Amino acid sequence: MSNKGALIIFSAPSGCGKDTLLSELFKRDSAGDFVLSRSMTTRSPRSEEKDGVDYYFVNREHFEQLIAQDKLIEYAEYNGNYYGTPKEPVEEWLNEGKIVFLEIEVQGASKVRQRCPDAVSIFVLPPSLDELERRLRNRQTDSDEVIAKRIALAPGEIERSKEFDYNIVNDELERAADELYNIVISIKEKNQNG
Ligand code: 5GP
Repeated sequence: MSNKGALIIFSAPSGCGKDTLLSELFKRDSAGDFVLSRSMTTRSPRSEEKDGVDYYFVNREHFEQLIAQDKLIEYAEYNGNYYGTPKEPVEEWLNEGKIVFLEIEVQGASKVRQRCPDAVSIFVLPPSLDELERRLRNRQTDSDEVIAKRIALAPGEIERSKEFDYNIVNDELERAADELYNIVISIKEKNQNG
């Protein structure tokens, strides 16, 4: 994959606040260099989610066609649904020199690492598992059953945080966003200096 820009894998257990952290990060991007890849999923949209904005919501048949046509950089099954990253837009952004963020779970992260060895990976940790559970329950967007499954997946995901280049604890939003921003800028500068 062409790599004039930078590819950043951004993972965290569900409920860790990674969406909020990314939007804080993007506010700091005065140069307009950062782009967030939009994923495909077979999960049903939550009430506030829109197709083409939060995800491309597709059925399993469509998703499996994309896999067969090698149109995804990576994909994974998480909690019974497919999630995947469309390849073409990411290649275009990298060619334009953008810093492209893939907000993906840990299985997808390891596939991207294999396929794109230059990708830099960042894992966001919750301050504790109790805090993660509290945040997931407060979110009130998922059923109790879905929340329970997501909580059950978290320890295994956290265990894999060691595979990532950077770990950030999302204890306080502004502080974590500053730490993330400094990491991203150092990656950008390293790339520019060859
Ligand atoms: P959610 O259902 O909460 O939106 O996402 C569930 C998990 O899937 C999150 O960890 C999210 O980062 C991850 N995810 C979202 N898009 C992708 C993708 O394109 N590929 C992979 N592997 N994971 C994704």
